[in-house]
Amino acid sequence: MKKHNFSAGPSILPRVALENAAKAVLDFDGIGLSLLEISHRTKDFEAVNDEAESLFRELLQVPDNYKIIFLGGGASTQFFEVPYNLLEHKAGYINTGVWAKKAIKEAKNFGEVEVIASSEDRNFSYIPKGYTIPTDLDYLHITTNNTIYGTEYHGDIDSPVTLVADMSSDILSRPVDVTKYGLIYGGAQKNMGPAGVTFVIVREDILGKVSRPLPSMVDYRNHIANKSMFNTPPVYAIYVMRETLKWLKSIGGVPEVQKRNQAKAALLYGEIDRNPLFKGTAAVEDRSLMNVCFVMADGYEDLAPEFLKFATEQGMVGVKGHRLVGGFRASIYNAMPIESVQALVDCMRQFAEQHAR
Ligand SMILES: *Cc1c(COP(=O)(O)O)cnc(C)c1O
Repeated sequence: MKKHNFSAGPSILPRVALENAAKAVLDFDGIGLSLLEISHRTKDFEAVNDEAESLFRELLQVPDNYKIIFLGGGASTQFFEVPYNLLEHKAGYINTGVWAKKAIKEAKNFGEVEVIASSEDRNFSYIPKGYTIPTDLDYLHITTNNTIYGTEYHGDIDSPVTLVADMSSDILSRPVDVTKYGLIYGGAQKNMGPAGVTFVIVREDILGKVSRPLPSMVDYRNHIANKSMFNTPPVYAIYVMRETLKWLKSIGGVPEVQKRNQAKAALLYGEIDRNPLFKGTAAVEDRSLMNVCFVMADGYEDLAPEFLKFATEQGMVGVKGHRLVGGFRASIYNAMPIESVQALVDCMRQFAEQHAR
């Protein structure tokens, strides 16, 4: 049976990227060796690293005064590397969910942290608005897509201080005005590649301002100076990421994928709003185009396990909601075809026909 992969992360990758990745394990670019057994300092791998960087730069339109580095450690490592490199006195954070909270916790090890706005009062079901950003902050940190709660900023905010964004789960899903940010980071495993590689885009002039000594591996400047080869980079993950970026370019880049993402989200949210058995959990204007969270509607709560069983039997994978929200979550990242979203919608319709009260 065809499987439809709605996993939240690691998550669906383009088929062509997987096929090329499989080949490279056995024979990398016809050199007679596996990609996994060559030095990262060979010209063969350097070309992969360079192309991954230049494709990412081109697709997201990253200006030249921003550096791009690929690191290990996941977005969670950036939760402390960002304040390590940037927090001298005080940083501001917008608390929009679990990942934001983790970032806040780590930043407190390095200086004063002020939570400028929070949506915790309504279980993180919306993006806070209408707050004032103090001008005495070293930076303001936001999480542009809240993977667990299914909320998302739909545009780039204006900030009078350096803006730092965790874009782990919506990177390359929509155009971003990079010039509004000082630093953007994320794990690749939601929308851009496999687990194991983390990207950091940073405007160089914001670095080198803190007075504390930085361990070499933590100092972004070392990774920049060595073009992500300060130590052994996650070579395989970078290779698969390059293949994913090539695929994104081949379909028309970010503007095209944004159209597709909008169509997929409209299809699924349309069904959630239409179908009397289901209801969405996020504020309508802040609904994520990447992670669609929904629960059984009032009066149908008891049917949740049955719907999960039914959907699983129909080939839907990874639709169980995060325990903090309950219900269901369908992650419909860039590589997810609309046919799979349609299959989930069909499944919801069939279930409603069988169980309408
Ligand atoms: C998944 C996720 C993280 C954590 O990423 P790791 O690479 O596992 O550390 C952080 N932030 C957001 C928004 C995420 O979706």
